[in-house]
Amino acid sequence: MNDLYFRCETCKRFVDAGYRHAYWTLVEPGVVLADDYVTGGTALPPVSAEAVFAADAYWAAAANDSAMAELLGRVREFLSDHARHSLSFGDLHRLHAPPDEWLAWRCDDRDGGLLPRNLVEGLHLSTWTEVEAYLSRTGGSPWWWSSPDARQAARRKFMELVRK
Ligand SMILES: [Zn+2]
Repeated sequence: MNDLYFRCETCKRFVDAGYRHAYWTLVEPGVVLADDYVTGGTALPPVSAEAVFAADAYWAAAANDSAMAELLGRVREFLSDHARHSLSFGDLHRLHAPPDEWLAWRCDDRDGGLLPRNLVEGLHLSTWTEVEAYLSRTGGSPWWWSSPDARQAARRKFMELVRK
């Protein structure tokens, strides 16, 4: 369970916290509390953006790793943008509990996760034909694309969002 994400429960947006690095420098020393997904719980412990900003070991990884520097830059921006909101920290699986929970969320990772909200709010696509063209042009294949049920659910959510 190392797919760890910062989440804003207010905006329903999330960003990759940095996998094992986040585990060893944030969860292990107690800067953030791990969620209890593995034991069947549903608690998502709140996160203090200030405590994370003060966790030097977490940010130090940017010094000699450009991919990590980029990821941490996104995390810093995310925590600043949402510092006054309800921040939490949890495993990726939390976005599938309940199973359709992912439809409500927007991903702030570099590849965007291509969730319905990313397609509408981030890429400003307004028809499903545009979505298909975008995915075929970029070679992007989000996980939900290969599952007929999930693709239908994503399409339904997309249509709901563009009608707003
Ligand atoms: Zn927020």
